[in-house]
Amino acid sequence: MVPHKTPSLFKYIWPSLVWNVPNAGKKIFLTFDDGPIPELTEWVLETLAQFNIKATFFCVGENVDKHPEVFDKLLLEGHSIGNHTHHHLNGRKALTQNYLDNVALCDEALAKHNETTELFRPPYGRLKTRQRKLLKNRKVVMWDVLSKDYDQSLSPEIILDGIIKATQPGSIVVFHDNLKAEKNLKVVLPKYIQHFLNQGYQFGRL
Ligand SMILES: [Zn+2]
Repeated sequence: MVPHKTPSLFKYIWPSLVWNVPNAGKKIFLTFDDGPIPELTEWVLETLAQFNIKATFFCVGENVDKHPEVFDKLLLEGHSIGNHTHHHLNGRKALTQNYLDNVALCDEALAKHNETTELFRPPYGRLKTRQRKLLKNRKVVMWDVLSKDYDQSLSPEIILDGIIKATQPGSIVVFHDNLKAEKNLKVVLPKYIQHFLNQGYQFGRL
């Protein structure tokens, strides 16, 4: 098993979730979870702008409220956004009603900026079957390439090698604009993008 690749068993168990983009051709979909925060999201935006590519940001509502200027910048630069709950709840641990309320609270934070989104990504990739059923109007986006950028026991070189091997046409790749990921992300992201641009790939938003 490739360590950064989502096992196909998950896709089999949860076929209604989005794991990659079929028939996308040589296109990769970068996603960034947990922001927006000034310390790292701004750097991500600058990096994406340097390469002139768009991505998708799964935002924590609380961070949108705390850092509205970073969120506005992200919108202004033409990236997509998705809901990542208001307080980064773990669906497996949360009561279903509390979980749904927290998703709605994140929607409210986005609505203050006149934004709505059908895209939703459960924090930690954890979701109960009942929560999924009740979120039936959402497009629940998982990933097929997990960078593990937050894992400080992994070096950037190991991560870069792993995610390059795991990436396929139409892959959805998850990175994190949170501080735990900063050290790895700052090394890995530009090199990963450059590698696939050199291979003739394009990058798209969801
Ligand atoms: Zn998260």
